[in-house]
Amino acid sequence: MKTETTDIVVIGAGIAGASAAAALAQTHRVIVLERESFPGMHSTGRSAALFSEIYGSAPIRALSRASRDFLYSPPSDFVDGPVVRKRGALHIASTAQLAALDTFCALPDIGPAVQRLTGQEARGLCSILKEEYVVAAAFETGSADVDVDLLHQGWLRQLKSRGGQLVIDAAVVGLGRTSRGWRIETPQLRIEADVVIDAAGAWADVIAELAGVKTVGLQPNRRTALIVDAPAHVQTDLWPMVIDVDEQFYFRPDAGALLLSPGDETPTEPCDAQPEELDIAIAVDRVQQATTLEVRRIRRSWAGLRSYVADRSPVVGYAPDAPGFFWLAGQGGYGIQTAPAMGRLASALAKGEPVPDELAAFGVVAHDLRPDRFP
Ligand SMILES: Cc1cc2nc3c(=O)[nH]c(=O)nc-3n(C[C@H](O)[C@H](O)[C@H](O)COP(=O)(O)OP(=O)(O)OC[C@H]3O[C@@H](n4cnc5c(N)ncnc54)[C@H](O)[C@@H]3O)c2cc1C
Repeated sequence: MKTETTDIVVIGAGIAGASAAAALAQTHRVIVLERESFPGMHSTGRSAALFSEIYGSAPIRALSRASRDFLYSPPSDFVDGPVVRKRGALHIASTAQLAALDTFCALPDIGPAVQRLTGQEARGLCSILKEEYVVAAAFETGSADVDVDLLHQGWLRQLKSRGGQLVIDAAVVGLGRTSRGWRIETPQLRIEADVVIDAAGAWADVIAELAGVKTVGLQPNRRTALIVDAPAHVQTDLWPMVIDVDEQFYFRPDAGALLLSPGDETPTEPCDAQPEELDIAIAVDRVQQATTLEVRRIRRSWAGLRSYVADRSPVVGYAPDAPGFFWLAGQGGYGIQTAPAMGRLASALAKGEPVPDELAAFGVVAHDLRPDRFP
């Protein structure tokens, strides 16, 4: 088997690997290795496609704010059409959840970003919300639906136009240190590189184990989504995304139908996640309790993995115990909306540069994401 040499190998061509690789290809020789035949096969191709600046931990919210400009006005050579379409996010509360809504709105960067609404005002935005269930809400107007495929393909195209390579059907099965950096093996290829970037999504700890690097305790969690018919004779397209304030369920319009999720978070091994009947039933039951929707038919359903470390913030930076091994993992349920900032951040940190000013201005701090924050 022939050995190729390069500067950087990125393992995983999901949205995390693609955005970082495209940024790094401006200055370095980059090869991205993807195990599957198409790069969006796992979490990236299975998301609910929400952009919200008030969703997730404080470091996630900072990365999301720093991603906003790119998503709303991507460079003209990146994509042809718009990447996002504005859609408000309505965080609803029942009487029992009023304290949770208050706590949510009390966070210093969340309060100013939302409008408090009464139950009646919330029903004005989404007519199926039940009067006896929804008593208050917080409305975020700056959120949006993301065209995930357009965004992901944009970075993969950019990678190639900058001289980088994407190799599909290339599962990394061996990873070892060399005097210069790393030797990376797939069944067909052997590559020597100075730096390895672990962007393997739910498998990021598996890759670390393969490399003999200390793992970060990544836990993949299954989340289910389904598409059902929208109510007849109701204009649903302009509805916001409706999210239970405790994330027990959410729903939003999806191409003339409705996307529902039970907000499940079932710990699992890294795998090709499949939906369970019980989670589908829970989603339907919870949405029917809060709304007048009657679900008669499930058009399709799927599940994907949202992978977290203990503090639910991503892990970005060089491993303290292995020179040249760079973590880009733990994006959880926010890897789409944070990808523009995350790609630029990973690229800067992998090159030994500080956090770029345009990210630091939104509160992105490398310290919050560093891999050595775990005991
Ligand atoms: C139901 C659901 C709803 C979601 N909703 C949202 C949302 O609304 N907004 C949002 O921002 N995020 C959302 N997310 C989260 C988002 O999808 C993820 O955070 C993001 O896709 C993670 O991207 P990734 O590139 O890290 O992982 P992935 O897309 O899983 O990519 C990792 C890649 O690594 C590859 N790989 C693994 N092992 C190897 C190996 N040994 N060799 C080579 N390649 C390997 C895999 O094949 C995979 O393609 C949601 C997720 C789910 C499941």
